[in-house]
Amino acid sequence: MRVLVIGGGGREHALVWKLRQSPRVDRLYCAPGNAGIAEDAECVPIAADNLKGLVRFAEERRIDLTIVGPELPLTLGLVDRFTAAGLRAFGPTAAAARLEGSKAFAKELLRHERVPTAFFGVFGDPDDAARYVKEVGAPVVVKADGLAAGKGVFICPTVAQALEAVDELMRARLFGDAGSRVVVEEFLAGEEVSFMALTDGTTVLPLATSQDHKRALDGDRGPNTGGMGAYSPAPIVTPALRDRIMGEIMEPVVRGLARQGVRYMGVLYAGLMVEDGHAKVLEFNVRFGDPEAQVLLLRLRSDLLELIERACDGRLAGATVDWDARAAVCVVLAAEGYPGAVERGRRIEGLDALRAWERGVVFHAGTKRTDGAPVTDGGRVLGVTARGDTIEQAVAEAYAAVGHISWPGMHYRRDIGQRALAGAARREMGAHGGT
Ligand code: AMP
Repeated sequence: MRVLVIGGGGREHALVWKLRQSPRVDRLYCAPGNAGIAEDAECVPIAADNLKGLVRFAEERRIDLTIVGPELPLTLGLVDRFTAAGLRAFGPTAAAARLEGSKAFAKELLRHERVPTAFFGVFGDPDDAARYVKEVGAPVVVKADGLAAGKGVFICPTVAQALEAVDELMRARLFGDAGSRVVVEEFLAGEEVSFMALTDGTTVLPLATSQDHKRALDGDRGPNTGGMGAYSPAPIVTPALRDRIMGEIMEPVVRGLARQGVRYMGVLYAGLMVEDGHAKVLEFNVRFGDPEAQVLLLRLRSDLLELIERACDGRLAGATVDWDARAAVCVVLAAEGYPGAVERGRRIEGLDALRAWERGVVFHAGTKRTDGAPVTDGGRVLGVTARGDTIEQAVAEAYAAVGHISWPGMHYRRDIGQRALAGAARREMGAHGGT
């Protein structure tokens, strides 16, 4: 089979690495890929949002299956275009991808399906939004409706800050049209969890649990990022909580969309806030999380190609997913300046020492090769992802590997997995036996 993966980050490297192990994959392409992906797949220099170029490439190379990593091509309608051209692509259509592309759409659906989430209002007029902010008081959260690269969310401890956020989004148009509408919602306290499921539009299959670390600095300080690390399993998600999340959140959302005539096929990712054993939805993503994909795919024992094909073809009923019982931890190594503007082209040292690493994989994110040597080419550069019998062991293994790697300005968090370990101390981790 000829398979094309779209994207060029750590998530896509993990997808390519896993697909490479599938006996039925003959040719594997990635657009645009990166220096690490180039070792497992043929990289083609087509940007992930160049839908025309991607369709043309898939037609020319007679690609049997295309797997979309990032959200942008999904919200732009890549799957619709591929389907119209008679090509098979894994991921939601533009209509279904509105779950991530429009926070207002997602919130309305949640309200309609009575799925637990923060109470909220949606506003297209800044004066109305301001009036609502004053009415509900602080703390309160103001969100741009559209995609804003994870930066369109303002957690506001005071009413004044919330009013400022409304102004920046709606009047100054900090994120352009993404802020033509805003969601103003209740602030939720608790612990954040990522929950992902694979669905063909009818059957919803939960994946293993994971948690990421969004803030740039140790102790959950500093600015929000795309994710500085992740671990799996997430001990906070007990089997009982997982069942509730499936029954109260994932299944109602897929069913609710289906009732509107929208088939959701692909990975559905719910960002949840958990407090006292109850989960509420913060947001949806319409694809694998990154870096969560790196720990999940390292733990996945089933054939990924087979699962994805079953989802595409509406044959997920009866499927099971087999996981390595061991834990996995990913430590993201970032470039100087990340999550702000970064310098590129810094030479990365030490990767050769990890080529024969048995207990993990160094997934590449922002890398390329210059004169044969790997150099930095983005904010998040590498995802050092390790296995261990426990999260503690996986943490130790990952950081031992990190010790081999360096470039000028490299930075990373030193407390990845600590939240799970602190929780484990409280809950006697392992007693739950969850995935
Ligand atoms: P979102 O893109 O909607 O997930 O928001 C980004 C981050 O903002 C989340 O990962 C949370 O840390 C935080 N956040 C979003 N909504 C809320 C909320 N209602 N209460 C507390 N924190 C929130």
